[in-house]
Amino acid sequence: MSRIVACRSCGGSRLEPLLSLGNVPLANSLLTAEALAAPEATYPLELVFCPACTLVQITETVPPEQLFSQYLYFSSFSDTMLRSAETVAGRLVRERGLGASSLVVEAASNDGYLLQFYRRAGVPVLGIEPAANIARMAEAERGIPTLVEFFGQALGERLRGEGRRADVIHANNVLAHVADLNGFVAGFAALVKERGLVVVEAPYVRDMIERCEFDTIYHEHLCYFSLAALERLFERHGLAVVDVEQLPIHGGSLRLFAEPRSAGTPPSARLVALRAAEAEWGVGELSRYADFATRVEQLKESLRALLGRLKGDGRRIAAYGAAAKGATLLNYAHIAGETLDFVVDRSPHKQGHYMPGVRVPIRDPRELVAAMPDYVLLLAWNLADEVMAQQAEYRARGGRFILPVPEPRVV
Ligand SMILES: [Zn+2]
Repeated sequence: MSRIVACRSCGGSRLEPLLSLGNVPLANSLLTAEALAAPEATYPLELVFCPACTLVQITETVPPEQLFSQYLYFSSFSDTMLRSAETVAGRLVRERGLGASSLVVEAASNDGYLLQFYRRAGVPVLGIEPAANIARMAEAERGIPTLVEFFGQALGERLRGEGRRADVIHANNVLAHVADLNGFVAGFAALVKERGLVVVEAPYVRDMIERCEFDTIYHEHLCYFSLAALERLFERHGLAVVDVEQLPIHGGSLRLFAEPRSAGTPPSARLVALRAAEAEWGVGELSRYADFATRVEQLKESLRALLGRLKGDGRRIAAYGAAAKGATLLNYAHIAGETLDFVVDRSPHKQGHYMPGVRVPIRDPRELVAAMPDYVLLLAWNLADEVMAQQAEYRARGGRFILPVPEPRVV
């Protein structure tokens, strides 16, 4: 773990503190039963703001090899993400006229959840995924050719040297995890065709701040992007943002479309509008972020008070979603086994493990109906509609959900 002394994007050395979530373990480091005997490493989790380029980021950098070589997150387990991937692939195949002579590349292609839709449409694809276990699944189960590597400038230039340039490059929810932001975007610039398109999805910092989604902050998630910060980053590498969409996934995300500046495409009306809206919101002003830490503290106190009242009334409480944001929330708010009987998660790879730090056991979601806890704290609040639909039987039997953000409430 190393601490930055300058902005990861622009190199600016003035970094203004916004929020400290204390010393916490790595959010995706689920524990095995054997590991419970050993102490866990914890690291400071602190958020800072770069006034020079508006980038919000954390101060510590975890070595990527430590985080992603056996990554447990499988994209395909979220129906919402799959639908979003299918829609964007279908649209780009039509709009860009993609076919058998095209190439679509995805950086951090995970289990092939997105590229499978291009492949079915007859478009050649190439996945790039550093987690070997997940890359093998993409190849074996979906037939997605996948390079087991970290994407960056070197790989982008190597593929270009081999004559493999991309009509479309996707990078979904990976840019925020990248320590060498400039190398990553330089890789796009090297790999994309002159008339090609780079499509990047990243959680939107404005949604995080406004909706108090502090639990999306964890060590794997180094940067929290505004449109302004992304545009400055892309411009530095000869890429122009030409369009942007706001997506509801992950608590509010941006989907950015960028092309080589030489293509000369003018910015779309909605890009111009979002730039203006951001500027008016105060994206570059430190004062815009000043009350975030206070609101986060208040949310913690009010959640602890709610759970404390329910426990005092003899209620049994479980939680849903053994993802990183759950680990941040439970560790920051000190909610552990005295409050939660267990956490459920759909991923069989997580079941049987324990949440880092708070060490609550992870079980199959069927446990909710089997054990019928009175309340379920919905740690995966970004998938609230999906989870509540899946848990119709639990709800029909009287089970209730607690949503933690933007303020704790029983639904
Ligand atoms: Zn900066």
